[in-house]
Amino acid sequence: MRALLGVLLAGVLLAGGAGAAGAEPVYADPGGAESEPSTLPLAGRVIVIDPGHQLGNGRFPGRISRPVPAGGFEKPCNTTGTSTNGGYPEATFNWKVARLLQQRLEDRGARVTLTRHVNSRTTWGPCVDRRGRAGNRLDADLKISIHADGSYGGGPGFHVIAPSRRRPWTTDIYGPSLQLAKVTRVRLRSAGLPVAHYVAGADGLDVRSDLATLNLSDVPTVMVELGNMRDRRDAHRMTSASGRRVYARALAAATYRFLQ
Ligand code: ZN
Repeated sequence: MRALLGVLLAGVLLAGGAGAAGAEPVYADPGGAESEPSTLPLAGRVIVIDPGHQLGNGRFPGRISRPVPAGGFEKPCNTTGTSTNGGYPEATFNWKVARLLQQRLEDRGARVTLTRHVNSRTTWGPCVDRRGRAGNRLDADLKISIHADGSYGGGPGFHVIAPSRRRPWTTDIYGPSLQLAKVTRVRLRSAGLPVAHYVAGADGLDVRSDLATLNLSDVPTVMVELGNMRDRRDAHRMTSASGRRVYARALAAATYRFLQ
């Protein structure tokens, strides 16, 4: 009881102090999620963002080549990812877009979890099976896996990958995941981003059965290949802060639209 009074008193003092400056009072937040203003559009939503790869994966070949479950078959734990011709790593691009997206979603009230918490040359992973299951225990509303491609001579452009219907792995999620993929394609397109033409027949939307990150998810999920790092124009966009904001804004808009 004494502790509760202390918290209440601290709240009053904080509110009074901030109010004295004439601005909106800023309240201390001792209660966590319950005290979030419920008017934010994504309040109560749980979103998982998976920034593909890890910057140090290449230094741990034994760890990342270990086979892990992928949805009825096995795949290597992870890969190194690609880079631009100038050496800007995909892992870093994925990480930076993920953080921008996290900020945008949290600003709208969502609770956001990332599948990795650093972008570091001295560590590796997690493996694709953990990334695949990352939203399950949280009962997340959706999971977005962020990647970039590396196609020599393929030209610029993005494509969105949805899980195929793969019984029993994706039976529950392939429908809503395809919806999420379609919404994401619309938003990336309306951000002025070109569709990749090097993915045969995809028109910006591919459906695959070979990805653990998608197969092991029990919540709606997509993987986005936001651009081709080996293309000069895409590389220019991906290595600039303003370019990365374009991707993050489009993904946030897609998330918001899907959850409405
Ligand atoms: Zn990748």
